[in-house]
Amino acid sequence: MERPHNFSAGPCILPLEVFEKASQSVIDLDGSGLSILEISHRSSAFVEVMEKARSLALEHLNLQNKGYKALFMQGGASMQFLTTAYNLLEKKAGYLDTGTWASNAIKEAKNFGEIEIVASSKESNYNFIPKNYSIPQGLDYMHCTSNNTIYGTQMKSFPDSDETPLICDMSSDIFSRDLDFSRFGLIYAGAQKNMGPAGATLVVVKEDILGKVSRTIPSMMDYKLFIKKESMFNTPPVFSVYVSMLTLEWLSRNGGVSAQEKKNRAKSELIYSEIDRNSLFEGFTGKEDRSMMNATFTLNDESLASRFDELWKSANINGLHGHRSVGGYRASMYNALPLESVEVLVDVMKHFEKTL
Ligand code: PMP
Repeated sequence: MERPHNFSAGPCILPLEVFEKASQSVIDLDGSGLSILEISHRSSAFVEVMEKARSLALEHLNLQNKGYKALFMQGGASMQFLTTAYNLLEKKAGYLDTGTWASNAIKEAKNFGEIEIVASSKESNYNFIPKNYSIPQGLDYMHCTSNNTIYGTQMKSFPDSDETPLICDMSSDIFSRDLDFSRFGLIYAGAQKNMGPAGATLVVVKEDILGKVSRTIPSMMDYKLFIKKESMFNTPPVFSVYVSMLTLEWLSRNGGVSAQEKKNRAKSELIYSEIDRNSLFEGFTGKEDRSMMNATFTLNDESLASRFDELWKSANINGLHGHRSVGGYRASMYNALPLESVEVLVDVMKHFEKTL
């Protein structure tokens, strides 16, 4: 059976060769006769996997030897909403409110200190990224969400402040484009988009921003402890870390983040040009804020939905329905999605126009 064109928003497509290697390793890890799932996380084989995954993450972000550590933690990005505040919020932090995930982060952080919402696009159902705000003085940190998965907006520029550490939820666009990652004090991302299976959460933190809060931090949330224990304070999510390592190796073999960015740009230009050309469809977000990862669009005439749905489903396309808070359609085009899948979708949109 041919694999479907998988536009799922996450968990989502990963490279087929990663699935193949991962499935082999469930039976026999590198000829050891043992499954990746049955060896000790303290065994040298797994310690090597963890070290490789952590060092590749830093390498792909160009953050080696710059005072950063990469950690794998658990609880998803949602746990990082509070873990960041636990570790970094003493008095007051600033947040950009750019969507559901950002507002969830705000809600959790409010348990630990004063939160100033520096800018928000909530009034227009988060269909753009706020701009022209200034960062207040005296914040412990400033938090933003680089890609808003539900709405399909992506930050193209970031808050700029020398004295305020910038914290970023990059769950849905990590490793998809080149940025100056050294501008960030801390980056976190759930694995289940561009990296691996759900279960592991990548945290990349600049060590010198830690150790400044007065509260006691529970062990499972303590970045300093996780650094000291090299992400092995307790049993890590071994399979998720292993598959993340395989995906990061795949990324290296394919030219790294900058080569991937070119591919992602080509995919997103193709879909957005069709959304703009085809009078049956309308893009959901402001053009300048469009995401390369998640393209959101609606039908101008909702009554055509069942006919369009039938067409894309019969073209072996999966996961195109929009999130319930936006409606319409969302084409998620993560790193492993080939350009051909976007070509198939665009052909379906063109064909649909002709059938009317
Ligand atoms: N932040 C963003 C940008 C997301 O897209 C998601 C999930 N889709 C989350 C946070 C929540 O992640 P998790 O399910 O890993 O807690």
